[in-house]
Amino acid sequence: MRDEPLEERLATLRARIVRAAREAGRPADSVTLVAVSKGQPPARIAAAIDAGLCHFGENRVQEAALRWPPLRPTVPALTLALIGRLQTNKAADAIALFDEIHTLDRTSLAEALAGSMAKYGRRPACFIQVNTGAEPQKAGIAPEAADAFIEDCRTRLGLPVVGLMCLPPAADPPAPHFAFLRQIARRHGLAQLSMGMSADFETAIALGATHVRIGTALFGVRPAATV
Ligand SMILES: *Cc1c(COP(=O)(O)O)cnc(C)c1O
Repeated sequence: MRDEPLEERLATLRARIVRAAREAGRPADSVTLVAVSKGQPPARIAAAIDAGLCHFGENRVQEAALRWPPLRPTVPALTLALIGRLQTNKAADAIALFDEIHTLDRTSLAEALAGSMAKYGRRPACFIQVNTGAEPQKAGIAPEAADAFIEDCRTRLGLPVVGLMCLPPAADPPAPHFAFLRQIARRHGLAQLSMGMSADFETAIALGATHVRIGTALFGVRPAATV
């Protein structure tokens, strides 16, 4: 990837998002760009903030805990999303740090989040991650268990579930996974869909994505030694 300034990448990205939304017959502002800042050096994040971005995604609680609390006062409109696996014993930290959790995927975590939300009086919006490819090594609730899990999170635990999230298998065409996720969301009246990354966000927008999680297409390739 060329090492062009972030503002240029952002302009290109926004134009692509607008075009994909228009082609899908959707308003451009129905798609939120989540800037995935994981593993990016502070200078690139500062450039993104300067460019007016205020919705960021991180995949590790610890990395986010070091980086964002000092920046938060400088970005009043900040929305910080957790997009990586959340360990149950970090649920309280995540509640304190994040405004959205995109990776709710199991009962033990749902219970820990409900407990921490009650205790700390903060209720980050939750997206339930579905393992649409049923990959054994991947996070996400199994597709056949998704309906019951969504119900349990909402009714028994009273979690603020706003939508669903998926991360299709790298080897598959993503469209069927996005369409499948949308189908589950519709059954449950869930309006938000966190799906689509640098390589496939246009397909995701065509299939209803409301949150596209974009790292490399915005910031450039992540420096080695990070994921
Ligand atoms: C890293 C990551 C992204 C962004 O990936 P890019 O290919 O850099 O856009 C999106 N979602 C999740 C869950 C990620 O871990």
